[in-house]
Amino acid sequence: MFATRFAPSPTGFLHRGHAFSALTAFRAAQAAKGRFVLRIEDIDATRCRPEYESAIFEDLAWLGLEWEQPVRRQSEHLADYEAALEKLRGQGLLYRCFRTRKQVAEEMLAAPHGPVEAFRGGPLHPNEEERMLEEDRPFAWRLSLDAAAERVGGFGRLSFYDNGKKVRANPALAGDVVLARKDVGVAYHLAVVVDDALQGIDHVIRGEDLAEATHIQRLLQALLDLPTPTYRQHRLLTGPDGRRYAKRDKAETLRDLRAQGVTAEQLRAELGFD
Ligand code: GLU
Repeated sequence: MFATRFAPSPTGFLHRGHAFSALTAFRAAQAAKGRFVLRIEDIDATRCRPEYESAIFEDLAWLGLEWEQPVRRQSEHLADYEAALEKLRGQGLLYRCFRTRKQVAEEMLAAPHGPVEAFRGGPLHPNEEERMLEEDRPFAWRLSLDAAAERVGGFGRLSFYDNGKKVRANPALAGDVVLARKDVGVAYHLAVVVDDALQGIDHVIRGEDLAEATHIQRLLQALLDLPTPTYRQHRLLTGPDGRRYAKRDKAETLRDLRAQGVTAEQLRAELGFD
């Protein structure tokens, strides 16, 4: 059965861009007589707040959306992500990374063939790693793209459907991506891939700002033996100034609009959903 989802992080109030994204996925589920899932992506406890989560429920209900219950909250399922990490670790696909953000940035700039866009630093020498562990230095777990390529027999075999077109996955875009952060023990790409599979999501409909993420997520699906959903990226909504809505710009939130007397019907119509 067709199943799609909207997966916001409760790090701020929803704005028009979120409404557009949520409605796009919701209407697609309705048209296919399928499932619509709302997932709360709250692994980053330092940035997520309960009041933003309640606002998500309130704003989406106001907008006319209905979703399956119970809602999955990532923070309540860390054991699922740990099991996936363990699986990857057991296959020798992960390495510990003790570097700071600054060190990572410096290494990328000073790469042997000139600055690189994606980090491929590899593990420390075993003696050095032992020393860091003895000193209790915090570390992240990164995916080794070299080891991953070997495991799947080269990335050339990996593809996915994106807006109806078959696309070859290019996981190198993401580099040796962090799958378990130093602070929270898991990272976005891993949690999303595990959840999409566990929740039976077969259509991922999300903004084109996440188009690049699909490439590394496709690789993770292969490494974890998980099914690959079909992907559909929607355009990003832009404001009157031509720039896309973003939480950091304090874009007008759905609550602001509501307080100004805008009705859900008006907003839906403005966004092209009648
Ligand atoms: N939680 C992500 C966000 O708020 C979306 C994840 C996804 O759709 O894959 O940007």
